[in-house]
Amino acid sequence: LQRDAHEARLEPARTRDNHTVEVCANLGNTAHTPEAVERGADGIGLLRTEFIFMAHSEAPDQATQEAEYRKAFDALDGLPLVARTLDVGGDKPLDYWPLPAEDNPFLGLRGIRLSLTRPEILETQLRALLSAAGERPLRIMFPMVKDLAEFRAAKALVDKLREEIHAPDVQVGVMIEIPSSALLAHSLAAEVDFFSIGTNDLTQYTLAIDRGHAELSAESDGLHPAVLRLIAMTVEAAHAQNRWVGICGELGSDPQAIPVLLGLGVDEFSVTSRRVPLVKACIRNLTLDEARDQAQKALGLATASEVRELLEAL
Ligand code: PEP
Ligand code: MG
Repeated sequence: LQRDAHEARLEPARTRDNHTVEVCANLGNTAHTPEAVERGADGIGLLRTEFIFMAHSEAPDQATQEAEYRKAFDALDGLPLVARTLDVGGDKPLDYWPLPAEDNPFLGLRGIRLSLTRPEILETQLRALLSAAGERPLRIMFPMVKDLAEFRAAKALVDKLREEIHAPDVQVGVMIEIPSSALLAHSLAAEVDFFSIGTNDLTQYTLAIDRGHAELSAESDGLHPAVLRLIAMTVEAAHAQNRWVGICGELGSDPQAIPVLLGLGVDEFSVTSRRVPLVKACIRNLTLDEARDQAQKALGLATASEVRELLEAL
């Protein structure tokens, strides 16, 4: 499979019954964009922009950020780029942005909540993204959004800046990585352009297991039926309003999970760049019908190990 995967990497990810999904790359460094394209990525499905901030000893100004984002757009040559706005706090500190000590940083000021307390940092980033993109396909994505109020507050900044600098229309979406946003996906879907499911945090918050917990790592499984049900709700709500849904957590590159996610209706898989060829090859081996069947069965089970057993038996 490895060799076939490599040889066919530039072909689309199309199932045996002709259903095509996008397979994109997750990146933290725009210098790796050419490599991702060479591996067959259909775009960048998650640019973790906090890594650009972490690589500097003070907040990068607009010009510095713009140069970074421009590198990615140039290498993508027309393919889309989903840029996630700064996602710090929780497990990701920024030295020059001292945060108050919190008993539970994972439940504290992080992601979009933090950005909305310092809108000037978010505004600079949005200006840099819009300017670097120009007419090229930029998709802006907000992290750790829990409900429509947060999305509206962040989206209002995009609208204001777009008007200010006469930037063209862009897709604006949210990560679904907090259970509340999956439960309220129908209300978010009315106003966002897309969702991308962050299964790393969604699993953590659904199962109440720290994503980095050494002893509990075996229990921390995105194939848990509780997580799968949240994914199913998200996709259903999105498709009911013609929005697309990606997955950008680790689960998207787990060969056992790929049929289930495809069967649940995920439109885009964004995975570690070196996994792109393999994920495409897995999808080419499936039919959407079989995948739907597996997904329905998995949703009816009670534990993650039952889901794994079911998938192993197939
Ligand atoms: C996620 O939470 O699944 C995700 C993709 O974001 P990060 O891993 O950067 O928190
Ligand atoms: Mg996350």
